[in-house]
Amino acid sequence: DSKRRVRNGWQAYSPALAQSRDDRLRMETQLRRAVDNGEFHLVYQPQVDMRKGSIVAAEALIRWKNHQLGEMRPDHFIGHAETTGDIVRIGRWVLSEACQQVAAWRDAGLGIVRVAVNVSYRQFLGDDLAGTVRGVLDEYRLPGAALELEFTERALIEDAPDTLRTFAELREMGVVLTIDDFGEGYSALNYLRRLPIHGMKLSQLFVEGVPRNHSDVAVCQAIAGIARSLGLGLVAEGVESEPQRRFLLELGVPVGQGFLFAPGLSADAFAHQLGAGLAHGTALRKAR
Ligand code: C2E
Ligand code: MG
Ligand code: MG
Ligand code: MG
Repeated sequence: DSKRRVRNGWQAYSPALAQSRDDRLRMETQLRRAVDNGEFHLVYQPQVDMRKGSIVAAEALIRWKNHQLGEMRPDHFIGHAETTGDIVRIGRWVLSEACQQVAAWRDAGLGIVRVAVNVSYRQFLGDDLAGTVRGVLDEYRLPGAALELEFTERALIEDAPDTLRTFAELREMGVVLTIDDFGEGYSALNYLRRLPIHGMKLSQLFVEGVPRNHSDVAVCQAIAGIARSLGLGLVAEGVESEPQRRFLLELGVPVGQGFLFAPGLSADAFAHQLGAGLAHGTALRKAR
């Protein structure tokens, strides 16, 4: 308990807490009730056309605010939720919340925007992911193309028996299917041939070092080459600087996401940016 600091009435979470068994149990107990208690919310990070500066999509990123544990980033609790299986319920909540939000933006005339949702490998196991997605799209009267699902490579190499069928069903619905953090994990290239995906996201691990670091440049070039020759889309993650943006555009990567453009925004702030872009034909980048 001495490791906790009280700030604004919230106790700041320290990663060290998760190391003790008691603390892990406490987190798991809180996690179990968090959906029902309304402790989660989403922020939306723009995916930007790096030439024009216009928003092409939003990635929904989960945040957890708990009265005992404080505010937590997903890297602190998603792993626990995967271990306990709570991720399945949390994942359904995220999907529903994100779809409700994108439907509201479309209804408000803010343009044909798409929302990208992160999916854990555990949501393949013991859940009918395609059925869940179909239900949510129906509920909010959304076309499949309004939704993008981001899978980590782990989801693909777990090789649950239904993976191929699930992907085929989702693609049939028009849902955009993307491999997240490409290059960070296994990069078992055989699934790129087997699974009907639309694209991948170039991990910020490599974007970080360009254009100065030679091996990062080489890896980015290689991944861009794979995407190009397989006819897959590529979105750069973690774009923080103007030289990175220029390098990626020269490499033929048109869409980027990162602090250069915007961090994760509240739904209202995101809608504001969308509206501003529509009104002025701009340019998050120019707006800075
Ligand atoms: P991700 O899907 O790769 O998301 C990108 C992460 O990079 C986000 O961290 C984002 O805030 C951060 N980021 C964006 N731009 C920049 C930048 O320019 N520089 C740097 N250094 N970082 C940047 P966040 O929100 O903490 O999420 C971490 C991870 O947690 C996500 O990585 C994703 O794997 C997972 N996650 C987030 N939301 C969900 C969710 O709803 N469900 C599941 N299963 N996982 C989620
Ligand atoms: Mg992601
Ligand atoms: Mg990512
Ligand atoms: Mg990541």
